[in-house]
Amino acid sequence: MKDLLIQGVRMVDADQELVGDILIRGGIIRAVGERIPAPRGVPVLPGKGKTALPAFLDLHAHFRDPGFPEKEDLLTGARAAVHGGFTVVSLMPNTEPVCDSPEIARYISAKAREIGLVEVYPVGAITVGLQGKELSPLEDLAPFVWAFSDDGKGVEDHELMWQACRKAATLGRVLFPHCQFSGMSDQALAQELMVARDLWLARRAGCRLHLAHLSTPGAVKLVTLAKAERVPVTCEVTPHHLCLEGDYPVNPPLVARETRVALLEALKVGVIDAIATDHAPHTPEDKAAGAPGISGIELCFPVLYTELVRPGALSLAELSRYLSLAPAQILGLRKGRLRAGYDGDLVVFCEEEFTVSEDFFCSKSRNTPLLGKRLWGEVWATIHRGEVAYLAGAIKGRDFHDHRQVIPSG
Ligand SMILES: [Zn+2]
Repeated sequence: MKDLLIQGVRMVDADQELVGDILIRGGIIRAVGERIPAPRGVPVLPGKGKTALPAFLDLHAHFRDPGFPEKEDLLTGARAAVHGGFTVVSLMPNTEPVCDSPEIARYISAKAREIGLVEVYPVGAITVGLQGKELSPLEDLAPFVWAFSDDGKGVEDHELMWQACRKAATLGRVLFPHCQFSGMSDQALAQELMVARDLWLARRAGCRLHLAHLSTPGAVKLVTLAKAERVPVTCEVTPHHLCLEGDYPVNPPLVARETRVALLEALKVGVIDAIATDHAPHTPEDKAAGAPGISGIELCFPVLYTELVRPGALSLAELSRYLSLAPAQILGLRKGRLRAGYDGDLVVFCEEEFTVSEDFFCSKSRNTPLLGKRLWGEVWATIHRGEVAYLAGAIKGRDFHDHRQVIPSG
């Protein structure tokens, strides 16, 4: 059942806003308009008083599967994703085993398909075991991944990164580096030096580059220069580097207010393309031992909505561009707009305040500095290709199997 009519909802995407109905048939948006008659047999979801956006796509998440089921797995990660309004996630390769072989990439895709809640796009490792010593079999991996990354650390060896750029160009895959030289006392410089190197290498090799979680004005400046020279580069920033401060351990570290303002400005002028969560679940024990990262996919939208949209720093249309349209374009998917012909992927949220409690989370991990905080913009429903994946606390496959069970009748 991939048909759904949502009635009387406020709809916002990157370039339009209206109140009306949206009809999805066969998983695709067929019509958007002021009043669409309900076709026979199509379930109706009343959206009055709520706001619908294109569902979010996360370019950068860690679901820890295979290898770390105490932190997260593909099932709990997928549930957390739909609870956060996401229908697409790109998963980083620092699993155990590392996703440096077609077997692991295929395991991830097959398991995600079986779960069926979200679309999963694996990222393959640039180097074997993320060791930075020799290239993974990129040709063998390419059919199963959209990008290559050693996320968690930078590839220090220049020649190795140069060869990776050349191969990525030949294979038509994106290189997705975590830019950070190790052993430097200045973290900003450690990031900027590698950004500069990778932009220069990509320019020479003609490969597409997507830079992970940029967090310094210097890195933004380098990307500005590269884009002016038409280097095929895109980049992302995390919600926590835009909204949070303090010393909660995360890599790269949280930044000062002036830097957050600069990163927001870089989004608004189109230098930074997308917002990606870097969802990094950890157990309390690992977190206490200093493991960096935030379990962020479920609070991504509420924190951005509370900290940036409600105070007027960002419009909802802009936020929709960064969370939906831009990542969809980077992945090459027909998603991210509320327009006929696009995939029927939607998120519907309520203009209500809620408290982030322990039992808010579908993720196995609750490592976030936002516990106990009051936020706005809780996700009410997530629709994936016309099917209800999440609705008001109930998740497809866990709480219901046929979404008509959860749709209020009338
Ligand atoms: Zn990273």
